[in-house]
Amino acid sequence: MRKKLAAGNWKMNGLSASLTEVSALIEAHPAPVCEVLLCPPATLVAGMAAVAAGRIAVGGQDCHAKASGAHTGDISAAMLKDAGASHVIVGHSERRADHGESNADVLAKAEAALTDGMVAVICIGETEAERDAGTTLDVIGGQLAGSTPEAATGANTVIAYEPVWAIGTGRTPTLEQIAEVHDFLRAELVKRFGAEGEAFRLLYGGSVKPSNATEIFAVPNVDGALVGGASLKAADFGAIIEALSQA
Ligand code: PEP
Repeated sequence: MRKKLAAGNWKMNGLSASLTEVSALIEAHPAPVCEVLLCPPATLVAGMAAVAAGRIAVGGQDCHAKASGAHTGDISAAMLKDAGASHVIVGHSERRADHGESNADVLAKAEAALTDGMVAVICIGETEAERDAGTTLDVIGGQLAGSTPEAATGANTVIAYEPVWAIGTGRTPTLEQIAEVHDFLRAELVKRFGAEGEAFRLLYGGSVKPSNATEIFAVPNVDGALVGGASLKAADFGAIIEALSQA
């Protein structure tokens, strides 16, 4: 039985004053049935972990593949863990696009996260051009195979399917398209990891909102969501947590 996961990605948003949203979220949802994770900018990881006090999980949005060294501006998985994070997002499409991260880069980052005892949230997803060209399953199959460590298990790795064209656009795939991809991902994981492949949580991400969460969470093999914009406000993210708890 996979525990559902509502994960929020604040991206490059939030100052210390924004942590009031976290207290409000925890106050309004003191005992959610699903797991809740928030990934703020690195500057807020320690502060958010202090506010969360273990009631929700806190994660980073990226990590370097190395534990330490001459990498100005970067942050390692060990540093995020030291600041109170238990999870780290790797391979978000904005990092793949803005920083030219390849599957091999994402794999190395995910391996670093696992080495430090963190949970890696590995993001994959096709561009609109790739979907239009009918290559969606080839693209995400390649990203899944190339970005997921050999040591991955359902306990230490979460896969987030995020079509690039659905992120921050208000557009979402049809429920049938989400089902097709999630069923494909499940089958690929079982092919590679055997029975353990059934244990990986598969999140859908891309314009998830309170208004569409319930129908998306009813799709088979959708074990939760990775939420960007709607995770910034306690009221919106709380409504998504409620929808997931009832799924
Ligand atoms: C994201 O960036 O991971 C994301 C899904 O963003 P949004 O929910 O804003 O589309």
